[in-house]
Amino acid sequence: MDYTPEQIRQWDRDYVWHPFTPMKDYDEQDPLIIESGDGVRLKDIDGNWYYDGVSSVWLNVHGHHVSEINQAIQDQLQKIAHSTILGQGNVPVTLLARKLNNVTPSAITRFFFSDSGASAVEVALKMAIQFWANQGNSRKTRILGFTTNYHGDTMGAMAVAPDPLFHWPFMASLPQHPRAPYPDCYRCPLNLRYPECRLACADLVEEAIRDKQEVLAAVIIEPVQGAGGIIPTPPGFLSRMRALCDEYQVLFIADEVATGVGRTGKYWAIEHDEVTPDILCIGKGITGGYLPLSVTAATEAIYQQFYCAAKDRKALYHGHSYAGNQLGARAAVANLDLIESTQLITHVEEMARTIEPEIEALRDLPYVGDVRQKGLMIGVELSKDPKTRTPFPYARQAGRIIQEIARAKGMILRPIGNVVIFMPPLASTADELRAMTAILRGSLEEGQSRLSQEEEA
Ligand code: PMP
Repeated sequence: MDYTPEQIRQWDRDYVWHPFTPMKDYDEQDPLIIESGDGVRLKDIDGNWYYDGVSSVWLNVHGHHVSEINQAIQDQLQKIAHSTILGQGNVPVTLLARKLNNVTPSAITRFFFSDSGASAVEVALKMAIQFWANQGNSRKTRILGFTTNYHGDTMGAMAVAPDPLFHWPFMASLPQHPRAPYPDCYRCPLNLRYPECRLACADLVEEAIRDKQEVLAAVIIEPVQGAGGIIPTPPGFLSRMRALCDEYQVLFIADEVATGVGRTGKYWAIEHDEVTPDILCIGKGITGGYLPLSVTAATEAIYQQFYCAAKDRKALYHGHSYAGNQLGARAAVANLDLIESTQLITHVEEMARTIEPEIEALRDLPYVGDVRQKGLMIGVELSKDPKTRTPFPYARQAGRIIQEIARAKGMILRPIGNVVIFMPPLASTADELRAMTAILRGSLEEGQSRLSQEEEA
């Protein structure tokens, strides 16, 4: 393919509608257009290199251009790129399902394939509602979600995590589901402190579940809230949720699209609380960040409620054309093999500990309100006044100021509102992580004057 950087820039402006992007703001910037990548870095069309400080939106595992995964995809291409798994099988997806059976909690035994995190969530919601309907209980049609959680941008996923800021045109179209306060310790809904609070916030959730138990099919939760600002659930909260779900006969859905496959220093974030969900949503890192593939994993008890002949009409009638794509499945197998052979989960745990002092030290900076870390999932919350925990107004786009500075210093970040998110590729070495955290600190330091100037303006 022949093109010049200028042509690509122009064609990008002329034809591409970027996801989750206010296009006027985008057009006012010098666009960043990536041409290649190697290890933990990306190269743009002008030849500039950047650290991939957000793992290409939280999915990269071993870095870019990884020979083992490249080779696996090339080998697969020699055989076939895609054939459907609706009513028939394929080899890579079978091998992947078997592998997943080994790395997920032992009670999880069945793996349903789709192509994005949002579709993994849609499937989970439908599985949960139909699980009860198949048993003759058609009242259980509601899902309890948590405030400020995020589950994807399709209608069902939005419905369990509606956000008036982004979803305002759809609010009236979405089915109504109940919500409980997420255990956000920085902004505790009860103004208490962990651990003295003894998880009083879980009592609020219990009330919500008890109130709605007749109509609740499931509870859905992010074990560490991602897009809502990197907020880990306090220890013990998830196990309490599990117990409540058992007590009130409600299914437990863990959305591990962002946290799964090692991101938090365990294979699954639910392991921090030794919890087994009924349904586990997996996406992003499952293919190492190579190809779109996602999984809704379920226990045998769930699967058995759908096990039937056509005449019984209890099957899960859901499927995407590219479900179980061979190239994606083959990449995922290579990714999981590499996680095992490089002992990557232990590496993430070690690296998280290695950079923790530098991350914690960011608290000393004037506009840093809070710093949160779970494994290599890190959020730095900017605050207009850290003492009173006052946020910068959304319109200030405080995080974007830091993003721009970091880019000029050679690292790509993608903030969400006031939270600067730092999610390096999981295989990053200690030296690479030190270089990245130095850029993060440098950007926050340099950003101070801009934040204060704009403050005065
Ligand atoms: N759930 C969570 C927890 C996520 O973080 C995301 C994506 N950021 C999704 C679901 C949706 O995944 P996708 O963008 O692949 O649809």
